Amino acid sequence: MRTQATPEQTQAVEDEIQRIGLRPFINPGVERKVIAVLGALDAKKADLVEHFHSFPGVERVDLISHLWKLASREYHPADTVIDVAGVKIGGNQITIAAGPCSVESEAQTTEIAHRVKEAGAHMLRGGAFKPRTSPYAFQGLGEEGLKILAKARAETGLPVVTEVMDPHDVNLVARYADVLQIGTRNMQNYPLLKRVGATKHPVLLKRGLGCKLRDLLMSAEYIVAEGNHNVILCERGIMTFEDSTRHTTDINAVPVLKHWTHLPVIVDPSHATGDSKYVGAVSKAAVAAGADGLLVEVHNDPQHALSDGPQSLRPEEFKALMEQIGRIAEAVGRRV
Ligand code: PEP
Ligand code: MN
Repeated sequence: MRTQATPEQTQAVEDEIQRIGLRPFINPGVERKVIAVLGALDAKKADLVEHFHSFPGVERVDLISHLWKLASREYHPADTVIDVAGVKIGGNQITIAAGPCSVESEAQTTEIAHRVKEAGAHMLRGGAFKPRTSPYAFQGLGEEGLKILAKARAETGLPVVTEVMDPHDVNLVARYADVLQIGTRNMQNYPLLKRVGATKHPVLLKRGLGCKLRDLLMSAEYIVAEGNHNVILCERGIMTFEDSTRHTTDINAVPVLKHWTHLPVIVDPSHATGDSKYVGAVSKAAVAAGADGLLVEVHNDPQHALSDGPQSLRPEEFKALMEQIGRIAEAVGRRV
């Protein structure tokens, strides 16, 4: 309560807490009274904050426990390890997904899939439905792209990570993909989150460009609350005032998320930097900081890529990076 709150205002808040079936617990401080509200259901807490905020004499309404209960470490102290067609994410291993930004053709995708597999990648990434800033830019091959990814998986054995943008496409994409990627622009597309939550498919949830880690965890909670606990969080760079790189990698996100949640945390150094010459350094920083994996763009002909060529590593650069990542992983007690 405010320091100037009247006894009547404090009483009104206590009465309201009781009226809605909860218990008030008064902490009579020297300067102000603090009223604890006990017994609220998690599902109601967010609404209660707004409700009590508007009462006269109330200064602030704080939540003691997180709103992302199921995703929180308090609820589930041990790390969650997700099994993607036999590939584990979130355990001792650092899991690397690599491949082109977009699926462009069968030849391009299978060639890159073989090259990243040879270099030691565990999963293949590639977009069939592409969220492009311009409606005139290449939008992806759609279902044809999914079929190409499925062929590349059949040839290499690499599980496939690919983006789904539209709630109506979730079933279609889930028929081909091993991991459903939710892109940065859709982190707060709640109908989409609920739809992927209703599947049992692993979900790779990217952080929104302008979203706090709290928002990311709240979005993860949407998926987990639908019964799908297979959520991988991905830091992919955020918007800041710095414009010497495409986005700014929030390396802090890794230890903070690992502290707050049991879900695996990976980093996408490609979209975070937007420049292939910085991808290696940021990849190594991410692994050193405790990331459970990386999502890296690799292209066999970056100059002619239909999207994100400038940030794509050539297969030989990716191979060299994998060797370095192995040494960093060893230094922090993990393996690739
Ligand atoms: C991608 O991974 O291809 C992609 C579009 O990423 P983001 O949503 O992070 O921009
Ligand atoms: Mn891309």
